[in-house]
Amino acid sequence: MNVQEARFRDVATEQTSETFVIDRSSFGERTTTVATAAAAEAEAVDRDARFPKAALDAMRQQKLLGIQIPHAFGGEGAAISDIADMCYTLGRACASTAMIFAMHQTKVACLVRHGTGSAWHEKLMRRVAAEQMLLASSTTEGQNGGNIRFSTAAVERNDAEISLVRNATVISYGAQADGIVTIARRANDAAGSDQVLLAITRDNYTLEKSLEWETLGMRGTCSAGFELKFKGSAEQIFPEAYDKIHAQTMTPVAHLCWSSAWAGIAAASVDRAQAFIRKAARGAGGQMPPGAAHFTAAKMALTKLRAIITANLDSYAAHEHDERALSSLDFQSQINLLKVEASELAVETVMAAMRACGLSGYRNDGDFSVGRHLRDVLSAPIMINNDRILANIATASLMSAVPASLRD
Ligand SMILES: Cc1cc2nc3c(=O)[nH]c(=O)nc-3n(C[C@H](O)[C@H](O)[C@H](O)COP(=O)(O)OP(=O)(O)OC[C@H]3O[C@@H](n4cnc5c(N)ncnc54)[C@H](O)[C@@H]3O)c2cc1C
Repeated sequence: MNVQEARFRDVATEQTSETFVIDRSSFGERTTTVATAAAAEAEAVDRDARFPKAALDAMRQQKLLGIQIPHAFGGEGAAISDIADMCYTLGRACASTAMIFAMHQTKVACLVRHGTGSAWHEKLMRRVAAEQMLLASSTTEGQNGGNIRFSTAAVERNDAEISLVRNATVISYGAQADGIVTIARRANDAAGSDQVLLAITRDNYTLEKSLEWETLGMRGTCSAGFELKFKGSAEQIFPEAYDKIHAQTMTPVAHLCWSSAWAGIAAASVDRAQAFIRKAARGAGGQMPPGAAHFTAAKMALTKLRAIITANLDSYAAHEHDERALSSLDFQSQINLLKVEASELAVETVMAAMRACGLSGYRNDGDFSVGRHLRDVLSAPIMINNDRILANIATASLMSAVPASLRD
């Protein structure tokens, strides 16, 4: 049986200093079941820009939405590498399903790592596991683009009751989610960068659609703009300040999960290119078609992409409970660069697959079409724009030393 000792301790067992085991034996099969449902509706989801309902129903049936929650709160304690693998498998089937899963799991990771010890957040973890609640993310606000470390809307306090009104420019699957994890300014008199994170549930917020877009790709994420109005309890604010959560969990987990989903899209395009080249070679008595070199280039880019994701997964897993290591300039630069590199490599892979297939890849119908994959993967460099990330880490890059050896 594929049972492995958990790297970190479960909350319940931590008190007794016992480790628990993660039983991964069913993870692959359950993810494949969801991926099969996702693949079956991927074209319709893209064409109609509709939520991948069958895939999400299957996800709930297979209990994947709560899989990362620790045993003590009713989940299975899946590790980040398990979640990343699932994102990759789902990405091969349907990009929107994979991205919805990736965003949800990023929010769950914040709950698991920063909500433990807070009664309200622990209760929410139990609910996510038991009810298979889907959590959305609200970071983008007004015209502020991907500047997540600045909030305009502030938490209003009235004793233990709090409220928030937020111009949420983009919330993917906002209309379908059972809860939202959102950032906000700590208080009316706080600076924009003095932020908190809140977990809010359907019964204490309303969403009014303020912006609808006709998107190029990732159409099943149903990303729209909303006015978010929330009234609830001060307990819903995470106990730790957002800057810590951002550095230790939100950014690393988002970048690892997103990159894995994009790698899945890239792999699906390589699948199609391989099938095309094989068919063309068979038809030509074994002679390789001229596009074969592009197929090799696509495979090469995919290999690089997988390698940087797994290297970063290992690096995160090695330090995930070491606050100092996670906050270091080197780690922060590396995990931010992962997003930039992975998104560029994913686009490069799909472009090369498209060129390998030629007209058969370019057409929107047919077995070798990679049009949907290309449109979906083009969201990657702009989802928290690569230019913004590169500009933000320029100073840190300048300060960190050039490695003296290969494994430094
Ligand atoms: C598929 C998808 C799903 C999403 N889902 C959600 C969601 O669920 N919740 C949510 O909150 N948000 C979501 N977003 C939004 C996302 O988080 C970012 O806010 C958004 O991608 C930023 O878009 P932007 O290009 O308008 O903003 P910006 O980041 O402001 O970029 C605008 C332009 O300015 C340039 N630019 C910005 N800063 C710099 C800089 N410092 N140096 C050089 N150039 C710069 C960029 O290159 C770009 O051309 C989603 C986005 C996508 C694509």
